[in-house]
Amino acid sequence: MPELPVYMDHHATTPVDPRVVEAMLPFFTENFGNPASLTHEHGRRASNAVEEARFGIARFFGVQPNEVYFTAGATESNNIALNLLGAGDHLITSAMEHKSILVPAQRLEKHGVEVTMLHPDSEGFIDPDELRTAMRANTKLVSVEAANGEIGTLQAIGLLGAICRERGVLFHSDVTQAAGKVPLDMTNVDLAAFSAHKLYGPKGIGGMIVRRGIRIEPVMLGGGQEKRARSGTVNVPGVVGMVTAFRIREEEMMAEGEWLTALRNELWDRVTAEVPGAFVNGPRELRLPGNLNVSFERVEADSVMLALRHFSLSSGSACSSGDRSASPVLIAIGVSEALAYGSIRFGLGKTNTKEHVARLVDDLKRNIHRLRETSAA
Ligand code: PMP
Repeated sequence: MPELPVYMDHHATTPVDPRVVEAMLPFFTENFGNPASLTHEHGRRASNAVEEARFGIARFFGVQPNEVYFTAGATESNNIALNLLGAGDHLITSAMEHKSILVPAQRLEKHGVEVTMLHPDSEGFIDPDELRTAMRANTKLVSVEAANGEIGTLQAIGLLGAICRERGVLFHSDVTQAAGKVPLDMTNVDLAAFSAHKLYGPKGIGGMIVRRGIRIEPVMLGGGQEKRARSGTVNVPGVVGMVTAFRIREEEMMAEGEWLTALRNELWDRVTAEVPGAFVNGPRELRLPGNLNVSFERVEADSVMLALRHFSLSSGSACSSGDRSASPVLIAIGVSEALAYGSIRFGLGKTNTKEHVARLVDDLKRNIHRLRETSAA
């Protein structure tokens, strides 16, 4: 087998922490019961594990356990949140959002929901005043993510949520990229979506926060699990893995955020100083610790990634790779189409080191120079 490249795509997904795997294992084997089977010990053990996990996740977000729902991930949670809208309602969101918000929003529009897209500024920030102005009498839901997975922008969800609360409008935030990476102000968040695999937990498990009193419409119908919000047998090992991942983040997030920010800034400073024609997209402050997004002049991201075969990198978001159009996020913040095609996302995480950054800068310098020479020849 070929040697694995250095992984630098931690916004797409993360390796599962071995402590998470260890916590999950008994729930595949001896504690395999269906948490709905409360007539026997197998079922009760599974049910207890699920309810304990609900407490752990509620504590992480500072909400009540009965406000936590388990789903298959943030895609499903975002879809459930948007399912609150019906014909005649008004939704406010932005082009910075993940496709699991944008695509359902397009479908809702076809079904008579009015949709307003807010315009981010050149660093990706949503202007609270623009949100205020966009509000209408029929505005039912505002959906703004906590952190952007491409350019790392951290939105002021506390403030945006307060504006919604003042008007009696529901505020949904996709916190998938932010949860476990940066502290979150959930005070004014009515609904939130998250996935375990972004924070060193397993794939295919996630959840949502739904504040008490909000009646959500399920997208999955059936046995009525999760208080009818999400039918289907709960993924018990997944839930146990997810809460373990959240518990570890509680302990490690702040210290890790600090050194990751330092590592990211080192990469930022060296790339912009040593590679000519390199422009960083997104803000210096209020940015996800491990995120750097750089546009390189006169090269295509695909050729750069092919040349940098010792690193696993991404251009734009993994969910839209294979889709050859320029990143809508970069276009929305005013990056030219040419520079958007030359942009690479570096997603640093806890597996990365200073040595990786040094090797990456060397590889970038050499290969970008060579690619430009070849295309000029
Ligand atoms: N929202 C954001 C901001 C994301 O980055 C992702 C994953 N790329 C999702 C939602 C969807 O998560 P999942 O694929 O786990 O459902």
